Order: sequence, then structure tokens, then C-alpha cells
Amino acid sequence: MVDLSAIFSDNPYFSAGFGLLGVGAGLAVLRQGARRGADLLQRQLLVSMEVPSNDKSYQWVLGWLSRRGAATIQAAESGQGMSWMHRRISRAVLPRHLAVQTSYKQHDNGSVSTNFTMVPGQGKHIFYYQGTFIQVERQRNTKMIDIQSAAPFETVTLTTLSRDRAVFSQILAEARTNALSQNEGRTVLYTSFGPEWRPFGLPRKRRLLQSVILDRNVSESIVTDVQDFIANGKWYDDRGIPYRRGYLLYGPPGSGKTSFIQALAGSLGYNICILNLSERGLTDDRLNHLLTVAPERSLLLLEDVDAAFTRERQQSEHAAYQQSMVTFSGLLNALDGVASSDERIIFMTTNHIERLDPALIRPGRVDVKVYLGNATPYQIRRMFTRFYGDEHAMLADAFVQALAGHSVSTAQLQGHFIAHKKAPQCAIDQVADLF
Ligand code: ADP
Repeated sequence: MVDLSAIFSDNPYFSAGFGLLGVGAGLAVLRQGARRGADLLQRQLLVSMEVPSNDKSYQWVLGWLSRRGAATIQAAESGQGMSWMHRRISRAVLPRHLAVQTSYKQHDNGSVSTNFTMVPGQGKHIFYYQGTFIQVERQRNTKMIDIQSAAPFETVTLTTLSRDRAVFSQILAEARTNALSQNEGRTVLYTSFGPEWRPFGLPRKRRLLQSVILDRNVSESIVTDVQDFIANGKWYDDRGIPYRRGYLLYGPPGSGKTSFIQALAGSLGYNICILNLSERGLTDDRLNHLLTVAPERSLLLLEDVDAAFTRERQQSEHAAYQQSMVTFSGLLNALDGVASSDERIIFMTTNHIERLDPALIRPGRVDVKVYLGNATPYQIRRMFTRFYGDEHAMLADAFVQALAGHSVSTAQLQGHFIAHKKAPQCAIDQVADLF
């Protein structure tokens, strides 16, 4: 019988082959072991937080990173507040791939200046925060599109040592506070964009309520009503009544309807969601959805509702107006809202209340109707002293006299006073310009 093992062991070629095979297999096992070990170590020692671009906090975190990135670069370069070792590491890991983020700063006089900040671009970066190093990985998934914003889907993943996990909540809180403080004292205007609300332009400086001069007690009564509504959520809840309130401001153009709503939002610290019912492509479903997802603490503003739905138009066979696909019943349904306990304050404005279908403005949909008309003597007088100062009260009376029997809007008055800045007597002499 032939001893096979003797043949193989005696043959130098075979034994070398087996030796190599053994080494190869050993290495593979080692490599796999090392990878598993690294994975295990990573799982045990590291902790990550992923922020997807469709999450609200994404922009906050990016904003925070841009500020942090600038701070890290500065600190690494100056070395302040860092140990020698940290400084060395910080310099070594400074982000090499940066992306630009343009921000706008609005000054109190309304002018805007632009500021460029570097944010960590796509890829991995490391920065130093509160005594710990954090890895930031910004990834873009070109195959996935965020349906809402039609932008490529992105994620930012922060990774740090597990013992420092508390730092994440701190970062999120700081990012939120930073983002919100930028809008403090300002009113954000939102408009609809597809199925969501997007800020429109820069947050505006709040308009003071006193700057909108309505007839005696009108402003106060609306403000009291809204404040009372906001303070009584529990009352509505206990009684199972939908927590919403509708207001209709009607009257001729230029009487301050829009300005008043802006000033009211400012005084309440609320934002405004403006919905244009005649918007191309707006459907009943989208309208309903938009009303449901309106940002918290915001007034919903439907301007010129008469333009979208007049009594005649909604009775016609095709209720859809222009390119908008919203039907009248769709609007009523959306206003009545799904059974939601979310606070909803809706303001509508119109120049022609008589053109509105009674169904649209019945109580429950519109609870408070306020007429803002052309300037009354009370408003004329107050606007005059607001522009020229209380010391010109006598001239204000003369101006009221000069306007007697004429109907002018408060917007026209404003224009007239601007044309005669600092010259109250001129404003009286030239009063005929207003007729
Ligand atoms: P409306 O919405 O009634 O058409 P706006 O609020 O758009 O009127 O007013 C147009 C302009 O006229 C704004 O610049 C606003 O400042 C000014 N204006 C109108 N009414 C008033 C008012 N009652 N008090 C102060 N300013 C007013």
C-alpha cells in the first residue's frame, strides 16, 4: 500500500504549497478577527448621532458647525484654551475640505449685509469641543432625493467617545438656541412650497402695534380676543371644541389690514404663514395638509379671499379658480380642519365682504369680523401726531378740519406725510393732493 502522506511530506513542492496555504488562511482569519475586534471596539467605545437633512435640526446643526468650525480654526491657530497636545492634534485635523455657507444679517434699519462662513464640506472632519474630539461626517446620497425640498438627501453624523455622549444633547440645545436667537424680535413669514412651509425672505423686524393706527379701541379689542384665545387652550380641550379661531378683516385697500396682522404677530411673538388660494397647483389635499402642518405659534393668513372664491364663482360648475385646483368645499373642509387639538389662528382679509359666500364666514370659520375703513378723524389725528410729534396737536386738528368731508385711506395719509416729512404745515397746505 502506498503511504500518501509520506509522498507529500517527502515532496518539497507539496509541503511548501501547504505551508503557504496555511499562512494565507491564518492571515485571513487574523484580518477578519482584527476587523471584528475594531467593530466591537468601535461599538463599545464610540457613539454616533446621525442628523438627516429632512430633519428640522439639520439646518441648526449645520449653522452650529459653521460657527464651531470657525472657532476651531481660530483656536487651533492661536492655541488659546488648549493643551499643547490638543493644539497639535487640532492643527493636524483641521478640515481641509470646506464648503461655503452664505448668511445674511439684517440690520435694524432693514438693510442686509452678507457674510460668508466656511462649513465642513463633504467627508470626514474632526473638531474639538468641550474637551473632547468629535468626528463630523457629512455625506450626500446622490441617489436619494428629499421629496419635500427636491435636494439630494444628506446626513451629518457626529461621532465621539461613548463616555462623552452627553455632549450631543448639549450640541443640539446650543444649535437650537443659536438658530432661534437669530429670529428673536423678528417675524418669520412662511409661504407654502409644495406640501411644506418655507421661510420667505429674511425674518422681518417686528412691526410695533402702535405703528398701525386703527379706529378707537379696534386694535385693543382684537388683541384682547386673540390673547384670550391663546390663554384658553384647556377650556377648549375640556369641552371638546376644536381649538381654532377665525378672524376676518375687511374694508377698502390701504386701511392697514395686512400691516395690522404683521404687527399683531410681532406683539404675540408669532410668525405668519401666508397662503395664496389662487396659487397655481394648489389642490384641496395640499391645502388641507398645509393647514394641518402649519408651524407652531403662527398666524395663518389667507389674503384677499374674495379673489379666490366669490359667491358666483363657487356656484359655477368649475369651482377651480385659474390654475388653482382648490374647490370651495375643499376650502371649507380645510378650514373646519381635521379633529386636531392644535391651536390654529386664521386671519382672512378681503376688500369685498359682500362677494364672499356666507358659508365661508359663518361662526366657527370666522368668529370675529372687523371692518377697517378709510381714515376716521380719530385716525387722521393720531397719524398726524405720530408722524410730526405730539407738540403739533393743534396742527393735527387743523389737518382733520381740512380733510372734512373727504374719504382717504390711511395708506394715502402715510404717503402724504412721507412726502411732507418734517413739514406739518406743508402737509396741511397741500392737503388737496389727497383728493
Ligand atoms: P391693506 O392690507 O388694508 O390693503 P396695508 O396694511 O397693506 O393695507 O397698508 C399699506 C401701507 O399703508 C402700509 O405701508 C402701511 O404702513 C400703511 N397703512 C395702511 N393703514 C395704516 C394704518 N391704519 N396705520 C398705519 N399705517 C397704515
